[in-house]
Amino acid sequence: MSDHRPAVTARAPAKVNLLLQVGPVRDDGFHDLVTVFQAVSVHEDVTATPAADWGLTVEAAGGADVSGVPLDGSNLALRAARLLAERAGVDEPVHLHVRKEVPVAGGMAGGSADAAAALVACDALWQLRTGLDGLATLGAELGSDVPFGLHGRTAVGTGRGEQLVPVLTRGSFHWVFVLDPAGLSTPRVFAECDRRRGPGWGPPPADVRLEAVEAALRGGDAEALAAALSNDLAEAACALAPQLTRTLAAGRAAGALAAVVSGSGPTVALLTASAASAQDVVAELVPVVGQGRLRTASGPVPGARVLEALAPGGQ
Ligand code: ATP
Repeated sequence: MSDHRPAVTARAPAKVNLLLQVGPVRDDGFHDLVTVFQAVSVHEDVTATPAADWGLTVEAAGGADVSGVPLDGSNLALRAARLLAERAGVDEPVHLHVRKEVPVAGGMAGGSADAAAALVACDALWQLRTGLDGLATLGAELGSDVPFGLHGRTAVGTGRGEQLVPVLTRGSFHWVFVLDPAGLSTPRVFAECDRRRGPGWGPPPADVRLEAVEAALRGGDAEALAAALSNDLAEAACALAPQLTRTLAAGRAAGALAAVVSGSGPTVALLTASAASAQDVVAELVPVVGQGRLRTASGPVPGARVLEALAPGGQ
């Protein structure tokens, strides 16, 4: 009986794009990307509990503002759970509780992490043993960043970003994230990028940017990685949210090795030389942006995984 099954909690990471090359818009409306994702230690925890009907609650962790998160059937976590149930022929509704640390609409793929964690939690709860590849195939139907939320670590993403190849890395990289209260819509940023490029814009020329990122990761070399970070969406994000230009400059002035827009923004990612220098950068930035907008994190970290299986009656 489903009601006697324990709840399962799964944890999935946010991501930062170390490289984001955007090709022309495709016939299906998506853009071809060449990106390098790194999973970082800002997490979403999703608990799946057997229930009489499908349901969802969201809790803010670490000061996240969750007011923009849909609580209905459009929520990515709920969509993920229902998709898995449908494909596996499971008729056991769950209540999902999402503990959100990742900024909403922040360019760190928080919604995708929720979907990844929901897939892993429900797969364990229903004892389906779907496997990582099977879950990633389902995840790609929900969103381009969901497969990476499942795989985690560091990976090159192509296609819409859903085709992943792991990248060898050495050691950890230390980040400071500067959150922005505004939030930016990903489709709007891509549209602005297209508008700025104009019609007739071709694919990005093959270049050495990917090689430079991979070499820096292999060597565990934060300074080389700082020099290689780039994001084709940065200009468009800064045009739509002009305050980002100031935030990027403030991050560099505070001693970061590099400052980049994270994905489609508006979160700004600051790469630092060490955990200690991340703390120094935070101390410099507190008077400028306020403590509440700053998060430290390191990467790479693993993809979505089960945290705990609570005994019946546990919460
Ligand atoms: P990405 O970097 O993948 O483009 P993002 O980090 O910028 O995404 P998200 O927080 O993942 O943005 O969510 C973008 C939008 O998706 C939200 O504004 C919200 O309307 C919708 N959404 C659906 N499900 C969720 C969820 N579980 N958490 C957050 N947003 C969700």
